[in-house]
Amino acid sequence: MGKLSLILFGPPGSGKGTQAKLLKQSLGIAHISTGDMLRERVASGDPLGQEVAGIMQAGGLVPDETVNRLVEDRITAPDCEKGFILDGFPRTVNQARLLEGLLEAKGIRPLVIHLEVDYNVIIARISGRRQCPTCGAVYSANANAPCVSEVCDYCGSTLVIRPDDREEVVGERLRAYDQQTAPVLKFLRETGVRVWDVRGDDDSPQSIARRLEGLIQEDRRNHRRPPDAETGAV
Ligand code: AMP
Repeated sequence: MGKLSLILFGPPGSGKGTQAKLLKQSLGIAHISTGDMLRERVASGDPLGQEVAGIMQAGGLVPDETVNRLVEDRITAPDCEKGFILDGFPRTVNQARLLEGLLEAKGIRPLVIHLEVDYNVIIARISGRRQCPTCGAVYSANANAPCVSEVCDYCGSTLVIRPDDREEVVGERLRAYDQQTAPVLKFLRETGVRVWDVRGDDDSPQSIARRLEGLIQEDRRNHRRPPDAETGAV
């Protein structure tokens, strides 16, 4: 079976990160979150981190060249051999064009899962989200609250609100999604990429992950590549 390149698409708070973590475990492929990669760089305080910190805190999008370079490097890492899940990329048509070229060169056809979530659910999820500043674990008020309020189950650190989850920044992030990211879906559909629209707000994260696994299996059965003439690989 060929390499799986899964793009998890959806607005902030649609559950991309949660689903990516669950699918990474069940599918055994890499999870690439551009948001996590950028947050790590901001935390390390390196030049790239310093350059993008302000943009991220304000809820804007980091320039395409910066994110594209990160992704271009990341997908060549050994843990991406079997495939990868992209979470938060592509977020602009420009990024989607770059990705199209990268995947085409590797002979990979991506699959997009578009998580559809009601606006009120997005707001409720983001306002209830807490993150561990030490190990990065993410908690939500409803679906997976920590055992002790505001304390990380894994490392005991006090949980924080992500700076860009603050109410005054969320509006800007949703605007960036509507204006720059939503058009990517149309672009991907037009270029012939398979897009599955899936409800991401009507069940538990685990049940939604099982639904996605079923779709992925079905998609892989229906779109098997003809065997490679020389290697017989599919
Ligand atoms: P996320 O964790 O995916 O919500 O991303 C957090 C923030 O990181 C976003 O609001 C952007 O500022 C930045 N970011 C993450 N991925 C991208 C991307 N593909 N393009 C531009 N900016 C990004």
